[in-house]
Amino acid sequence: MTLDDITRRIRAAEAGVGRAPGSVTLIAVSKVQPEDRVRAVLDAGQRVFGENYVQEAQAKWPGWRTAYPGVELHMIGPLQGNKARAATGLFDAIHTLDRASLATRLARLADETGRQPALFVQVNTGSEPQKAGVLPGDADAFIAACRADGLRLDGAMCIPPDGEDPVPHFRLLRSIAQANGLSGLSMGMSADFETAIAEGATHVRVGSAIFGARVPARRA
Ligand SMILES: *Cc1c(COP(=O)(O)O)cnc(C)c1O
Repeated sequence: MTLDDITRRIRAAEAGVGRAPGSVTLIAVSKVQPEDRVRAVLDAGQRVFGENYVQEAQAKWPGWRTAYPGVELHMIGPLQGNKARAATGLFDAIHTLDRASLATRLARLADETGRQPALFVQVNTGSEPQKAGVLPGDADAFIAACRADGLRLDGAMCIPPDGEDPVPHFRLLRSIAQANGLSGLSMGMSADFETAIAEGATHVRVGSAIFGARVPARRA
């Protein structure tokens, strides 16, 4: 599918539920995609991208940022504490704020550098043991603790369990966000972004539908 096709589908989904055109931000997820595919999407005018790995993003994006002004980079993968400093320097937004130790680090870095990326609290809406994110029942207290640390929070993010209807998860995330005064909702991927938009998503994270299947990373 081309970027144009995806953009058209987003506009149609917005219109379908009476939302303003352009109220949803498309994050093109470029992790492990070959350079020529990412360049083609940059050439087509896309400027908002998502990456999952700090090191990979550090290797790829500084050059592209110079070549294509206006790029906005979103971190959507799990963030290790020892990569928080690099992530704060590189990313405009982090969607995976999921634990107190990371919040504390980001708050210290914000004090020190004067820079705080937009932050989304990741919620493990399916309470899956292997998945990152705060448990739904812990979300209110976690959000309050982040704010007490001095962090400015922009939204909430979820990755619904594989093979389940995502709608209850989108609704749970939305209710947690609303209850806590968070306006951003990062939800919806290639398979379900239109559904997510109908449920209020402000940011959809779409990878394979734009770039094609991900080529597995080659190991040395
Ligand atoms: C890889 C990834 C995506 C994109 O997935 P697609 O199914 O390729 O659209 C979205 N969100 C997160 C958190 C991801 O890791």
